[in-house]
Amino acid sequence: MIAHLINTDLGNRGIIDVYLAYRKKNPNFLKRAASMVLENLDRVLIATGFPIPPMDICETDGPLGALAIYQAIEELGGKAEILTYDELKEALKPFGIRFNDAPILNSYSLLIAVELPGRTRDWGYYSMSAHRVRAKPFDGLFIDARERGIPTIGIGDGGNEVGMGNIRSLVEKYVPLGEKVASIVKTDELILSAVSNWGAYGRVAQLSLDFGKNLLKGWDERENLKRLVSAGIIDGVVKKEAMSVDGLSVDIHERFVELLKEIIVEKISP
Ligand code: ZN
Ligand code: ZN
Repeated sequence: MIAHLINTDLGNRGIIDVYLAYRKKNPNFLKRAASMVLENLDRVLIATGFPIPPMDICETDGPLGALAIYQAIEELGGKAEILTYDELKEALKPFGIRFNDAPILNSYSLLIAVELPGRTRDWGYYSMSAHRVRAKPFDGLFIDARERGIPTIGIGDGGNEVGMGNIRSLVEKYVPLGEKVASIVKTDELILSAVSNWGAYGRVAQLSLDFGKNLLKGWDERENLKRLVSAGIIDGVVKKEAMSVDGLSVDIHERFVELLKEIIVEKISP
């Protein structure tokens, strides 16, 4: 049910068709990803940040989701760190989180990518409009982690992100410019969503249901977005600083989170 909600394709990106095909073979992807987090809380590396061409400034989709997951992991007694670009580090500083710029892979129990550029077949990195992303990529960590057997989870909403290698053929089939932008980078679990932040919030909601505690309770979407925007982080669709994410107004995101919170309260209260 939460998987349906997070794939409400308000941006009309073709992700709904990808989702309908994906869930046929993977009806429990959200539950599996939540279990993977609960089983591997020791030291989690969360990588986020999608630099939007041509300015290569990071967007507001991704970091908020990463922050929500970070806080949930800490609340569950785990330890989390964030790997990201400089401007996002600056923007996320007021939240008092731990960063790691040079992670030693073997010391992690789990890696999570939230809206992270993933290489394509031609080893390029592209925005959804097929413009080249030039910033230093982090996707190699996920490829190495899989080779070493460290669990990985990807969260994405377009097909060009880490994790979408799991369903590349669906991205090529249903997403505009999919053949050009589809990433080949796979993760053990993939959370598909219409907005990557929603994918992350949906996963925190699922964790809340599985653990019996409302981990989204203190989340203030408007306030958190305001902090990022005031630090210069942009909406990736309209490509400027705005109180929106992926071209959708903060009102929608705020109410989306409120809906998830209500569902959690309804399901976990006796
Ligand atoms: Zn995306
Ligand atoms: Zn997005």
